[in-house]
Amino acid sequence: MRDYQRSAVYRFESGFAPAEPQMDKREARQFFKHVCQSMGITDLAMGFRSGGACSYYFPEDNGKPATIKILWRSRHSILHEIAHHVIHKQNPNLPDHGPEFVATLVAMAIVFNGANPLTVREMGDLIRGR
Ligand SMILES: [Zn+2]
Repeated sequence: MRDYQRSAVYRFESGFAPAEPQMDKREARQFFKHVCQSMGITDLAMGFRSGGACSYYFPEDNGKPATIKILWRSRHSILHEIAHHVIHKQNPNLPDHGPEFVATLVAMAIVFNGANPLTVREMGDLIRGR
């Protein structure tokens, strides 16, 4: 799958979503539930990773429900992986970190994580896929 601007997205995120402390697992589950309920997402599960390099999104596969596996338990990591689910459900052929993903993630960060829209103006280039 095309993932042409993954590192650009990661750089961009580090600008508007500065490092957050980890939540405990209970807080992380509450936040996940809150976001899913608010967005009407009923077909996504969350688990935790204790090792490895990063968090992951696994789409639904042969009856196995879609799942996100969170490594660093921050609000932003959870939002990032949920945004993958939202985009995958919209169209599984969209690029993982393409313009649609960035637009979704930024909107979610503003609504659920207090991101300041004025600090995310550079998102324009990524949303336009440049
Ligand atoms: Zn990602």
